[in-house]
Amino acid sequence: INELNIAKDQADKANMAKTEFLSNMSHEIRTPLNAIMGYGTILLEHQNLSDEVKDDINNIINASDNLLEIVNGILDISKIEANKLEIINTEYEPKEVFNELVKMSEVKLNAMNKPIEFKHFFDETIPPVLYGDQGRVKQIILNLLTNAIKYTKEGYIEFKVSCVNKSDITRLIISVEDTGIGIKEDKINKLFTKFERLEVEKNTTVEGTGLGLAITKKLVELMNGKIVVQSKFGKGSKFSVSLDQRIVKDKKELEKTGVIELDNISFPNKKVLIVDDNMVNLKIAGRLLEKYEVNITESSSGKDALEKVKTDKFDLILLDDMMPGMSGTETLIEMKKDESFKTPVIALTANAINGMKEKYLESGFNDYIPKPIDRVELEHKLKKYLGGD
Ligand code: ADP
Repeated sequence: INELNIAKDQADKANMAKTEFLSNMSHEIRTPLNAIMGYGTILLEHQNLSDEVKDDINNIINASDNLLEIVNGILDISKIEANKLEIINTEYEPKEVFNELVKMSEVKLNAMNKPIEFKHFFDETIPPVLYGDQGRVKQIILNLLTNAIKYTKEGYIEFKVSCVNKSDITRLIISVEDTGIGIKEDKINKLFTKFERLEVEKNTTVEGTGLGLAITKKLVELMNGKIVVQSKFGKGSKFSVSLDQRIVKDKKELEKTGVIELDNISFPNKKVLIVDDNMVNLKIAGRLLEKYEVNITESSSGKDALEKVKTDKFDLILLDDMMPGMSGTETLIEMKKDESFKTPVIALTANAINGMKEKYLESGFNDYIPKPIDRVELEHKLKKYLGGD
């Protein structure tokens, strides 16, 4: 028994080391990706680009998006295997989430130019506010929708959500049906195995890692739900998920998470301090902010930022967390020791695994933007914190 315990201890330690390694690796990969995607976004906004150049830049951005998806997938799998994946419940509006998924799917379908009709139907009786992990619910459905789009050439895709309400619980029944390539009966039990891809010879042009459904199934199970597949090879597939979510009766005003259109806004007199130890990151954040005509001050350490905050008044601070010497979180704590300090501070960090937003909000940050920085998300936060007057 003693020997077994020692062996188990060693295995646990090795597993923890692996998770930590993957989490560090994800952080490290996100930093150069932030540069690639950031500069891609800035280049694409240049005037007078030829269609060919636009296409090339879009391909760079798409490839980076795929790489980011792979990094996130590997991180999720390693967390699931280390039993470290947490479900983080908050109040959310399910219809917002579903509508956003519809928009995302339509954008994907348009980009791929496939003759597929996208149908969607959401039950009227779905309660307006639920309590659950909206990020993970979205991830589950997005995986199914993305697969349907990837593995269907023509016909239709139908995204449906119905529900059964019982006292304070709603059972969401989510289905994604397609008229795609379908799955052979004897392969169905392999679907949810990690790194398992079916018909690889035929699907050489379809990108994927074989992680999506393995993660999806684990997530559904972590939320005590069920996922089932019906499929006919050559005809199509239908993935159905049932998930119980608590109904929130007295709703508060919730922050809108939907897709936001970009418009031409600027905040000419506003002063923004960006703090990051990485010079390239500083530069990209600055370049992305340029079009808003804000007054930018750069700082490359927590210590220096503290000095700057003492002598100057800012309207917004974008603060990286993982910096040598003083971390962003430590810097924020120091800033807040001065009671007159009221500037909103957003964590701008490559520490972007799920649950980080909540951690940063708990530490006193007003908000959180993960790297690589997304133009739409950045603009949304600027409007929120600078658009007051
Ligand atoms: P991948 O990254 O390869 O898409 P997934 O784990 O999401 O990984 O899916 C595993 C495999 O299951 C895919 O490679 C594909 O062969 C098959 N599959 C998933 N969804 C569908 C679908 N809607 N229609 C047909 N085959 C599918």
